[in-house]
Amino acid sequence: MKKQIGFGSLCVQEPEERRYTRPHQLPIYAASSFAFDSIEQGMEVFLGNQPGHIYSRFGNPTIDAVAEKIAQLESHGLQMEASGLLTSSGMSAISTLLLGLLKSGDGILTQGNLYGGTTALFRDVLQPLNIRFHAANLIRLDQVEQLLKEHKDIRLLYYETPANPTLDCFDMAALAELGHKYNCIVVADNTFATPYLQQPFQFGADFVIHSTTKYLNGHGNSTAGAIVGKDKGLMQEAVLPKLKLLGTNCNSWDAWLIHNGLKTLEIRMERHCRNARHLAQWLDQHPKVERVNYPGLPAHPSHATAKRQMKDFGGMLSFELKGGLEAGKQFMNRLKFCTLTPTLGDVDTLVLHPASMSHISVPQEVRRQYGITDGLVRISTGIEDIEDIIADVEGAIG
Ligand SMILES: *Cc1c(COP(=O)(O)O)cnc(C)c1O
Repeated sequence: MKKQIGFGSLCVQEPEERRYTRPHQLPIYAASSFAFDSIEQGMEVFLGNQPGHIYSRFGNPTIDAVAEKIAQLESHGLQMEASGLLTSSGMSAISTLLLGLLKSGDGILTQGNLYGGTTALFRDVLQPLNIRFHAANLIRLDQVEQLLKEHKDIRLLYYETPANPTLDCFDMAALAELGHKYNCIVVADNTFATPYLQQPFQFGADFVIHSTTKYLNGHGNSTAGAIVGKDKGLMQEAVLPKLKLLGTNCNSWDAWLIHNGLKTLEIRMERHCRNARHLAQWLDQHPKVERVNYPGLPAHPSHATAKRQMKDFGGMLSFELKGGLEAGKQFMNRLKFCTLTPTLGDVDTLVLHPASMSHISVPQEVRRQYGITDGLVRISTGIEDIEDIIADVEGAIG
């Protein structure tokens, strides 16, 4: 019989681990630290000679399992291995990776129509640290090469494809080839496409980042990010130390929610794509719609590029309503079934009017430069019955 301990001690004591039960599903390790059997074992784990966990900011069984799953998905079917890290958000995935790879005096080459938070990070956080960025139209490979030639400081090429909210797609293989020719590390934000639709590693990227908040979780109930790299050494020596010291690690609960979401990624993406294609075709015929941006439509300028590097055309689309700002606002207010929200990639249909929501504080001329016109509406097509989505959009267009 075990020695009787005091009531207070019993309150504090952890139950003995039940080694005879094996959970069928990934458990949530809410532990902030991990115990060692002996000082010798502890030393081996600290030295990295033996697998094991130390402290959850450095890694944790739940978090690591999900990071590894995302790395496997990004490299699935490719002749390569990748390693992954989970972070507290998509933004922290980007900041951790870039602070791990770049130093003062280094430059970034990227596109003008990046996710708004990423542009602000480059401008307000990295630029004051003397990590400058140059924006180009990444469709124009001649402009990209010109900038790479002119600015010797550029060490990293960073892209998002399809781009927000016009769904322009960039030739990933050509960008990686140019980037590598000028000694740049190539980083892809694969949030919009997910590894189901495209694997930037297949087209030469060195790192892939995700806001898992979007499609990978898919249910709108977790905020997190992921960094995946094919150079294990760089991940271990350049990226992981920054994650540990900046404290940008994910937590087990969010990791677990991503894990739940990932199980249905393939079937969700199939349905997202099918619904978006139907909706795009329907909108394309509508007399009050000026233009539809969906790479799956043969008339979209990026159709050929998307077809070459994507398995399908994704769940995101945008369209231009005739009637400008007022038409856009009226449309939003008339929606009953779809939700007005700035996020994307959830199972339900989400609608954003950039001119009055995400880009409200961006001057009109700047917005227009990136195709964000007043009547532009962005839809993250959900997996509901397409008839219900179309009926709501039809009613809102009026
Ligand atoms: C949402 C998003 C981010 C930022 O991710 P958070 O999880 O909100 O921090 C970065 N890139 C893209 C393309 C996004 O859509």
